[in-house]
Amino acid sequence: MDDTIAAVATAYGEGGIGIIRISGEKSLDILEEIFEFHGIEEIVNRRMTYGKIVDRDNGQTIDEVLAVYMKGPATYTAEDVVEINCHGSTVSLRKTLSLVLRKGARLAEPGEFTKRAFLNGRIDLSQAEAVIDVVKAKTDKSFDVALSQLEGGLSSYIRDIRQNLLDLLVDITVNIDYPDEDIEEITYDKLEINIKQIGDMIEKLLSTASSGRMIREGIRVAIAGKPNVGKSSLMNGLLRETRAIVTEIPGTTRDTIEEALSIRNIPVYLIDTAGIRETSDKVEKLGIEKSKEAFNNADFIIFIMDGSEEISSEDEEIIEYLKERKCLVLINKKDLEQKIDSVQIRNMLPNSQIIKTSLINGDGIEEIENAVEELVYGGEITQSESMMVNNVRHINLLTDSFNSLEDALQMAVNREALDFIEIDVKNAYELTGEIIGESVNDDIINEVFARFCLGK
Ligand code: GDP
Repeated sequence: MDDTIAAVATAYGEGGIGIIRISGEKSLDILEEIFEFHGIEEIVNRRMTYGKIVDRDNGQTIDEVLAVYMKGPATYTAEDVVEINCHGSTVSLRKTLSLVLRKGARLAEPGEFTKRAFLNGRIDLSQAEAVIDVVKAKTDKSFDVALSQLEGGLSSYIRDIRQNLLDLLVDITVNIDYPDEDIEEITYDKLEINIKQIGDMIEKLLSTASSGRMIREGIRVAIAGKPNVGKSSLMNGLLRETRAIVTEIPGTTRDTIEEALSIRNIPVYLIDTAGIRETSDKVEKLGIEKSKEAFNNADFIIFIMDGSEEISSEDEEIIEYLKERKCLVLINKKDLEQKIDSVQIRNMLPNSQIIKTSLINGDGIEEIENAVEELVYGGEITQSESMMVNNVRHINLLTDSFNSLEDALQMAVNREALDFIEIDVKNAYELTGEIIGESVNDDIINEVFARFCLGK
């Protein structure tokens, strides 16, 4: 924590500007050592200053820059911070950074700037985690949810829950430790009500978990169907109506035909399983295996049939495989004479929703979007809600604390000794504390910040 750290804070590659960020005690000294003023200026707190970065050891000018010094603690890390806006050239950034390191800074680890903001008490742990989500958000909605968490929306709800738990703990402890004093005795009835109320608060938050995760991480939609039924038309239709997410998705390889787009603000990864078949090994069996794998990994399957043709053996093969799954069946080409009866399909795939479409005309796209939205929101949560729990770490901690309170409630119902109830309530208090970084150990903190990118 005593080191002064530095890193490139902007994305790698060419750009108008690229920023080197420095944080720690030596920030200003380092800047003064490498900065050459233009005219008669001095470095003033929070004033952007024009000048040059110069290596005084050899007199070489590295770049023409704008630099700013921000005195702590009202900064990102709560320490003294310097930001140097170089030209967005990898050469300039590399040379400037190495000069900064030579003058006494150490290269920052991924997430270290945000970690310092947390360790210095400027933000709590759930806010720090939200920084990653803000940076990585792919749709307006996931950005809103992340920003609300960064602003402390989730933290303040968790703090409310913890305050209630603390009040309850105090009541219980007082009754255990000073049973003879003249204090209001806690009744089991009151205990039941209080525990239940807090459990409800946690449950309410947990009810947003499934939607929250899908909005944050996106959903994987596999498209199934034999050749020529209209799979490409569907993909094109969805891409036309919605917006493609242009960024590459980390961790995905290009051997699956995958398109990333946004449907009603939900990040969606469309996987054409026929494409998997065609692009994979010539051995057909492997192709089929890969398609099955895509089905198994998908959150949602869209199965397309050609309504103008009789059901073929290939359709039957897919139906057989999809039988148990909940999927969306499109009977396409409804503009042509129909040879498929939807009642028959309904009998074969009883868990599915069936829509008749004419994808060539974009007819049916809206219903498909409705189905995706229904899957994500389950009809329960309105789109406008932006306080959601969407982080697996938070979801697990909330689930565990909810279970602890359930146990406490059961004991209160059975009129068991207060000491036992106290243990479970205390456990719930500690678990919820871990969400915001109170009562967490170093391992968890290191785990959280390891997920950051460099310069954050
Ligand atoms: P894919 O092989 O499953 O990707 O199918 P395509 O999307 O490439 O479509 C195959 C053929 O069917 C193309 O000639 C399309 O123009 C046609 N097609 C797709 N959807 C419809 C539709 O709704 N009605 C009609 N009449 N033709 C369609």
